[in-house]
Amino acid sequence: MEISLNACQSLLLGVAVGDALGVPVEFKQRAYLKQHPVTSMTGYGTHHQPAGTFSDDASLTFCLAESIASSFDLKQVARNFINWRNHNYWTATGEVFDVGITTQRAIDSLVQGASPELAGDEGENANGNGSLMRILPLIVYIKDKPVTERFEIIKQVSSVTHRHIRAVIACFYYLEFALELLQGKPKLEAYLSLQKTFPDTLRKLSVPQNEISIFIRLLVDRIDMIDEDQIYSSGYVLHTLEASIWCLLTTNTYTEAVLKAVNLGEDTDTTAAVTGGLAGLLYGFDSIPQNWLLTLARRDDIEDLALRLFNQSHSGGARA
Ligand SMILES: [Mg+2]
Repeated sequence: MEISLNACQSLLLGVAVGDALGVPVEFKQRAYLKQHPVTSMTGYGTHHQPAGTFSDDASLTFCLAESIASSFDLKQVARNFINWRNHNYWTATGEVFDVGITTQRAIDSLVQGASPELAGDEGENANGNGSLMRILPLIVYIKDKPVTERFEIIKQVSSVTHRHIRAVIACFYYLEFALELLQGKPKLEAYLSLQKTFPDTLRKLSVPQNEISIFIRLLVDRIDMIDEDQIYSSGYVLHTLEASIWCLLTTNTYTEAVLKAVNLGEDTDTTAAVTGGLAGLLYGFDSIPQNWLLTLARRDDIEDLALRLFNQSHSGGARA
């Protein structure tokens, strides 16, 4: 399957713009945002950063994309993560101002020589959204591979920071959803198609049934019919995945989807980054508001990265 330059741009910028919209109000409660909703790119607030500043979500997304753009290698992914944390690589403004606990611990382990596929915590309590928020560029590398291989690669890339099967399943579901959108399916069709196939796919991959059952609201119920007060926006990977699919399915534009995600509150930047990646792929580059792109930090660098990602996907390297 071919991936267009537009798709490479919109997945990277879709994540970054969502992230930047959420940064100023990270940790704000939903009740507060009902009174003071985010409607555009603003600055300062929670992390005292200027408007358009993206955070760890987009930075680590770019670190992964860099490795894929120059032929995918898990060790290089790990080096890029270390470089981000310790040398501000791919930061918006030359500073790391936010890092998740599980990600920080994994990077410490990597610095001490842990192998990348074993660096992440495999504990049940380490199921934050830190691998989900940065996984999307992997679509470029895995899109033409058989499902077993897709799962194995996603597992490795998640495991650099998040090694529990639940975080891996969340990343897998998210990328399978992205793959459906890349094939041109409408969003609800993509969602319903995954309801039919994804549980069986997991069983065939020997994922324990109790872990499959945790995803019941996505895989069996209709997440798009759930009321907002039953949609959670904490840093728990299941909450982020559910909220992002809910935001995508219950809106009709990129703008509506990411603003709905931000205004759920709490982990605003990550919920909007995860939503924004899929919304970017669904609605395309032109759907991302120009004034937001003009405000976004390092927009030219991100476009350059998208171009390199696109070139790599056509060079055969990503297909090997
Ligand atoms: Mg963040």
